[in-house]
Amino acid sequence: MIDLHTHSTFSDGTDTPAALVTQARALGLEAVALTDHDTVEGIPELLRAGREHGLTVVPGVELSVDAQVAPGGHLHMLGLLIDPESRELRTTLAGLAAERERRGERIVEKLQGLGIEVTVSELRAEAGAGAIGRPHVARLLMRKGYAASIQDAFDRYLGRGKPAYADKKKLGEEAAIGLIHRAGGLAILAHAHLMQYPDYAAAEAKILALMELGLDGFEVYYPGMPEAYTRGLLALSRAHGLAVSGGSDYHGANKPDVRLGQGDGSLHIPEEVLDKLRARKRGIFGLV
Ligand code: AMP
Ligand code: FE
Ligand code: FE
Ligand code: ZN
Repeated sequence: MIDLHTHSTFSDGTDTPAALVTQARALGLEAVALTDHDTVEGIPELLRAGREHGLTVVPGVELSVDAQVAPGGHLHMLGLLIDPESRELRTTLAGLAAERERRGERIVEKLQGLGIEVTVSELRAEAGAGAIGRPHVARLLMRKGYAASIQDAFDRYLGRGKPAYADKKKLGEEAAIGLIHRAGGLAILAHAHLMQYPDYAAAEAKILALMELGLDGFEVYYPGMPEAYTRGLLALSRAHGLAVSGGSDYHGANKPDVRLGQGDGSLHIPEEVLDKLRARKRGIFGLV
């Protein structure tokens, strides 16, 4: 069993990369990928811990993509098996991190405007080593007694359309896929159902368009993915030779119902999924 979609303290997870590795080992997983939002800063620690504990680890990243999807939906692109030292990748992600800092400041200003006493330095402290994300704001609101839970903070302040919502700069579809490829990785569409199309058929039209831009594959194993998506995507991968992937989208205490490797308890991703991703990468990049 493997898990190819996880978050650490370097974005909006609550476990360090090393803690992810030791937990994966304890659960008997064969491999784990770290896919923090818009950053690869946690990858060196992941690689060190993987070597130390004898676990296969996969360098990854999850990019928020600026794309036309259904109302309320979003498009996230995973880069798996990337080279975390890629200059272009690091420079681009540094720019996005700077944008996240500025957006965190805008959110704090909006909260202050609502009479909520939070500061930018408190938010910075909450994010620690990580690039600032809304879950950090949510934790700060919880800690200071302004929200009962992460979900409550999103529902009342931070969700799209709520009073302290602020948008962030994102890469376009083609830019995201190209960046991942130039960093030696595979571009894998994360949680396709969260594009929020009314049904799988509508989502499939979007996925076919992404394939024209070089998409390598998509997540098929993901907690709560509707059955129609799982079936449809598996058929699509067979018809067009696309890769399949999957993961729990583990965030530690920021998503308390999701467990590493197991998701909601029903997830079981075979190791063969990673073997096939590696084979595809070798095919694309002509390596042996
Ligand atoms: P950001 O990238 O800063 O916009 O934060 C997005 C992250 O916030 C997602 O990856 C989720 O972890 C979390 N998130 C987004 N919407 C919600 C929500 N409605 N409830 C709880 N967490 C959410
Ligand atoms: Fe997240
Ligand atoms: Fe995501
Ligand atoms: Zn994720």
